[in-house]
Amino acid sequence: MITLGEGNTPLLRAPRLSERFGVELWLKWEGANPTGSFKDRGMAVAVTRAVERGATGVVCASTGNTAASAAAYAARAGLHAVVFTSRGAVARGKVAQARAVGADVREIDGTFEDAHREARRLADEEGFVNVNSINPDRIEGQASAAREVVQQLGRVPDILALPYGGGGNTVAYAVGFGERLPRFVLGEADRREDTFASAIRIVEPVHRLEVGGVLKRSGGTLVTLSEDQLEEAWRLVAREEGVFCEPASAAGLAAVAASVTAAGQSVVCVLTGHGLKDPDATERLAA
Ligand SMILES: *Cc1c(COP(=O)(O)O)cnc(C)c1O
Repeated sequence: MITLGEGNTPLLRAPRLSERFGVELWLKWEGANPTGSFKDRGMAVAVTRAVERGATGVVCASTGNTAASAAAYAARAGLHAVVFTSRGAVARGKVAQARAVGADVREIDGTFEDAHREARRLADEEGFVNVNSINPDRIEGQASAAREVVQQLGRVPDILALPYGGGGNTVAYAVGFGERLPRFVLGEADRREDTFASAIRIVEPVHRLEVGGVLKRSGGTLVTLSEDQLEEAWRLVAREEGVFCEPASAAGLAAVAASVTAAGQSVVCVLTGHGLKDPDATERLAA
């Protein structure tokens, strides 16, 4: 198993946010993973399987965290990593992380979708394994987070809230919970093409159909958020609970804040990545 010690992240009670929203609120702190995001859960499995299949390298397109994670696990496995990003659209810390562990970072003049196309082409042509979330090993690995939540809480929460970028994480949580789903409350950026929450800067969610299915089966809600709503939720997590996540990570809380939630319900907000990744955005928090 190729591992860096991913998973088993804290589930933190959030007393001030609970009081503010009249619910029993918990934070699943995925920034505590080895490269600072939940992507490590899926990457450990995907890279392990890539090695088993005799791959020489892995490739992905990324808004940043998939790149940082793929790069680290590839280095750990002795594999080559190529990552495609959209120029100027990735937080500085994430590019630095990928480069630090030796990844070949290729910035392209185009959108995330263009980068995705490039990654798939390289996988087809060069025998690299694509480790984007279209790779089922990623989903399988990320499903562990749902089982952890149930274990840590002692039951399935009433509500699971998380950011919605491409939707891979939503699908993975649904797989992990199995038959008994919590109500999914998803937060997406109104300005998908240029939101400051760069981890969810994805115009065409690759898992859109499956996400629709999860929302339907769980009686869930999709909330479209303004930049102000995203920023406000991010500030609340930091100021009220002392947890410094990256901007996209607070989208689940922003969605809870913007939707009607029955008093006293148990709500788990998944904080997907660490605040240290995005020093430019972080200047807004201090303002
Ligand atoms: C990847 C990522 C997301 C979006 O997850 P999807 O599976 O694409 O919906 C949200 N937040 C952070 C920090 C991420 O790295």
